[in-house]
Amino acid sequence: AFRADMLFTHRGLSGPAILQISSYWQPGDDLRLDLLPDRDALAYLLDQQIQRNAAELKTILAEVLPRRLAHRLCEHAFGSKPMRHYHETELRDIAGKLEAWPIIASGTEGYRTAEVTLGGVDTDQLSSSTMQSKLVAGLYFIGEVVDVTGHLGGYNFQWAWASGHAAGSAV
Ligand SMILES: Cc1cc2nc3c(=O)[nH]c(=O)nc-3n(C[C@H](O)[C@H](O)[C@H](O)COP(=O)(O)OP(=O)(O)OC[C@H]3O[C@@H](n4cnc5c(N)ncnc54)[C@H](O)[C@@H]3O)c2cc1C
Repeated sequence: AFRADMLFTHRGLSGPAILQISSYWQPGDDLRLDLLPDRDALAYLLDQQIQRNAAELKTILAEVLPRRLAHRLCEHAFGSKPMRHYHETELRDIAGKLEAWPIIASGTEGYRTAEVTLGGVDTDQLSSSTMQSKLVAGLYFIGEVVDVTGHLGGYNFQWAWASGHAAGSAV
């Protein structure tokens, strides 16, 4: 699980949370998006039902989600009527979806937009202090080509520079 920003693009989902989870995602895996991570969605909806029973669900959701997203969710999944017309079971179902919106991704954009790649030269076959191959003397591997994958936020640069420094110093 990652807690970070997410972006809806015209091609699909993107942004830090999606880029991070894509390092773990395998085709066929489903994703669950918590669209209201700062709240207890059911408590919020029940409270709004008491406080503002004439307001429509889309208006209530637009106060805690981007307006166009709230409206599309209502259009496609929840419907929108005054809060007093929702049964508790309906609100429970809506809250469950807001906290774990199910997504089955059809794929990733592949190398074209990748920021970091999984896989590479097996670290068991390298010296961890010099990055020299244990199989071929004088051959060194550093950075992205090694099977080391960092989270976003500078860890891949750090790894590329640190392993490069270690190998350069050894050479
Ligand atoms: C869009 C994008 C955003 C990123 N953002 C971040 C970030 O914010 N933070 C972070 O930590 N990481 C980030 N990364 C990942 C990070 O850039 C890489 O992990 C890191 O640059 C890897 O360094 P490297 O030296 O191992 O490989 P590279 O930087 O890929 O360097 C390899 C070099 O080898 C050259 N080369 C390839 N083939 C040959 C050849 N046959 N002969 C001679 N030269 C060759 C290439 O031209 C290239 O200059 C990002 C990557 C991308 C693509």
